[in-house]
Amino acid sequence: MKVLKFGGTSVGSAERIREVASLITDGEPKIVVLSAMAGTTNTLVEIADSLYHNEKQRALDIIQNLEITYYITVTELFETEAYIQKGKEFIQTIFTYLRSFINKDFYPLQEKAVVAQGEIMSTTLMHYFLEECGIANTLLSALEYMRIDKDCEPDYFYIEQNLRRELAKPEVCPLVITQGFICRNAYGEIDNLKRGGSDYSAALIGAALRVEEIQIWTDIDGVHNNDPRVVAGTKAIRRLSFDEAAELAYFGAKILHPSSVQPAKKENIPVRLKNTLCPEDEGTLITRESPAKNIKAVAAKSGITAIKIKSTNMLLAYGFLRKVFEVFEAWKTSIDMIATSEVAVSLTIDSMEYLDDILRDLEKYGTVEVDRGMAIVCIVGDFSANKEGLGAQILDALAEVPIRMISYGGSEHNISVLVREEDKKKAMTDLSRNLLDLQH
Ligand code: ADP
Ligand code: ASP
Ligand code: MG
Repeated sequence: MKVLKFGGTSVGSAERIREVASLITDGEPKIVVLSAMAGTTNTLVEIADSLYHNEKQRALDIIQNLEITYYITVTELFETEAYIQKGKEFIQTIFTYLRSFINKDFYPLQEKAVVAQGEIMSTTLMHYFLEECGIANTLLSALEYMRIDKDCEPDYFYIEQNLRRELAKPEVCPLVITQGFICRNAYGEIDNLKRGGSDYSAALIGAALRVEEIQIWTDIDGVHNNDPRVVAGTKAIRRLSFDEAAELAYFGAKILHPSSVQPAKKENIPVRLKNTLCPEDEGTLITRESPAKNIKAVAAKSGITAIKIKSTNMLLAYGFLRKVFEVFEAWKTSIDMIATSEVAVSLTIDSMEYLDDILRDLEKYGTVEVDRGMAIVCIVGDFSANKEGLGAQILDALAEVPIRMISYGGSEHNISVLVREEDKKKAMTDLSRNLLDLQH
């Protein structure tokens, strides 16, 4: 059994839905995880935002425009009048539901129920389309088995129990269609796995069922050695280890949700990235070991804040770092990079939510300086061999970029540098030109 996940672009139009249908109907049993059609989740977020700010007319306008695009998709997708009708009736129930919020108070949590409609629509349309083509398939609601706990972490036990129970029902076909991204929380409410979360859904399903392979089908031929949206001439990487892929995902490679590698790594399930637009392309295979031990790729994460705490004692007494870390723990904010000297410690965070509280608490231990608008540029590979000159090569490649912090040696898979946001593009481009391009 395999799990195949198709992203927003892959199901972004009637034509693309038909293409995906042809890729999943080879007769092999599989679970197909779908994202919302491209652009839908953003639009649903806008609708929720308008409802939250009580901008009723704006919400109604956006709802109407989205509804029209779905009616068009329905008429383009189905052949028969019966299915066009069935599709339209289904779309109507979704949009009636969205409009039902207009004259009610809107609570932040309801945003989750609104954005969930994107995946509910794409999967239902796919289910009906396969049905119309005479292909037996089961539409399984992710809300029946996908769940996060009180800390917003996947509830592995619940997911496995409920997924296996649902799949064991006698009426379930070997071809199962289900939603990515959406889940329930510890209180049973509709929630989600955060933006880009369909990759995570696929990995969680794959891990729960110990499948032979998890496939992530998207709009590019695999993980590239740098961000193709920022740097020209990037190339696909054919093999990566789980650790390398996890570092890339965490440090900004949008192609994979930041947490999506963990469940696959835990159960040692290969993850294959494939291009829906070019299915014969080999893509990228992620496994426990990756054959090449060298620098593989560069990724970057924006929106970083650097905080420097200078100890008032002028010496970092033992216990000082513990006190500093406790502040971040208390405010549930994770630290990405850290560098220490005898008198100061610098670290970075990617969430500004509790920044003021954190700064207030840190001031008890020393003077605090803050740099906003920073970016982490991360060089990923297997650095367990050929370490000679590695640091020098990286710093040479970045000779023209002002660097605020460096993290080297934290793991054998990641070397990170902190730069100002406006220097990020140059840092990424120079690393490609001076480091990656020379390797091939
Ligand atoms: P999907 O909707 O299929 O989940 P995403 O848009 O989330 O697709 O991810 C695919 C996109 O990720 C690519 O189109 C590309 O622009 C972007 N991307 C960023 N970094 C990388 C990278 N290192 N390799 C490949 N794609 C990347
Ligand atoms: N539809 C969701 C999003 O746009 C989840 C996903 O595409 O992975 O974030
Ligand atoms: Mg994605």
